[in-house]
Amino acid sequence: MRFNDIIGQEEVKAKLLNAYKEGRVAHTQLFLGPEGSGTLPLAIAFAQYLNCKNKQEDDSCGHCSSCIKYEKFSHPDLHFIFPSNKPEKTTENPSSELFSKQWIEYLQKAKGYGVQNDWYSFLNIGNKQGSIYARDANNLIKTLSLKSFEATYKVAVIWMAERMDAAPANKLLKTFEEPPQDTLIFLVAERYEMLLPTVRSRAQLVKVPKIKDEVLRNALQQQPGIDQSQLDELVANANGNWSRAIMLSSQLEDDHSNFERFREWLLLCYKYDYPALFTFVQKLATIGREKQKSFLQYGLQVVHNSIQINANNGNLVTGKPDEKTFFNNFAKYINQSNQYDFYEALNEAVYHIERNAHPAILFGDLSLTLAVLLNRGRKAIS
Ligand SMILES: [Zn+2]
Repeated sequence: MRFNDIIGQEEVKAKLLNAYKEGRVAHTQLFLGPEGSGTLPLAIAFAQYLNCKNKQEDDSCGHCSSCIKYEKFSHPDLHFIFPSNKPEKTTENPSSELFSKQWIEYLQKAKGYGVQNDWYSFLNIGNKQGSIYARDANNLIKTLSLKSFEATYKVAVIWMAERMDAAPANKLLKTFEEPPQDTLIFLVAERYEMLLPTVRSRAQLVKVPKIKDEVLRNALQQQPGIDQSQLDELVANANGNWSRAIMLSSQLEDDHSNFERFREWLLLCYKYDYPALFTFVQKLATIGREKQKSFLQYGLQVVHNSIQINANNGNLVTGKPDEKTFFNNFAKYINQSNQYDFYEALNEAVYHIERNAHPAILFGDLSLTLAVLLNRGRKAIS
């Protein structure tokens, strides 16, 4: 990562660069800041800068042999320790070493902006919390005692350092105090009070504040697919957290594409347009299970909204203007004759999607069911 890839935090970047220019880079540092503020990307970008072979005034070059590996988070002299736990159906003891491949994949996906709970769901460890273990500390000590492969500095990044309890921390205290030659330790944490005092006292603090609203807004504006009319709401709800802003905006995007897709589908069902339905279903079959599930759940919400509208509770229904128009039109075809079956059909489809049903067959069948139900609803009112 380059500093330029990080949202805002110009003051922190300047402080880090100054420390380098003045030759006073502390060997153990604690990047402390709230979720989504950019602590982990800042630590990685700083490590990349220090190892860059063609440093620019205020950023790494991004092209040298060191930067290329750093950009993929997979430099042989960049070591990560992070919380982990046992995924279901495995017997091996969890450790950062065991999950190093998944971790790099996760960092690439999150563009460096790691979020604890996202990481746990990426690891598929259910509702379990992760920990940093004594074996992680042992592995790190061993790794750092070896000569570096090629870099100027070996760097160890310990992410969510507050997930490290006394056993691993005690093993690492000496390393924090006096790392091997040309070795830097970057601790990254969100909660100062949860860090052991012995760890806190051995690291130089780099405080990272939450991202300023105007900075967040500018960065969001440049994201592809952002709905400009929803920027205010996004910025207010993100509360200076970039990861949250991205999550919320992709939710909005999903909602909108679900709406457009669902409206198209129902129209085709209503018209019994089989050739077009066939094409539609083939396309729907390729979007992936998670999106199919979210699409069906959106459909359930539409049925629910129609029932509300028909019960004169339309004021409880939220959505953008064109979406509300659609709910109102659709509500005309939902009545006692079909509302229960509609709901059941969609609900059952969610159940089968979760259990790996063949999506093209499932959506094909469901299209026919919905066509029948829509026309039953129409007959009931005519
Ligand atoms: Zn470089």
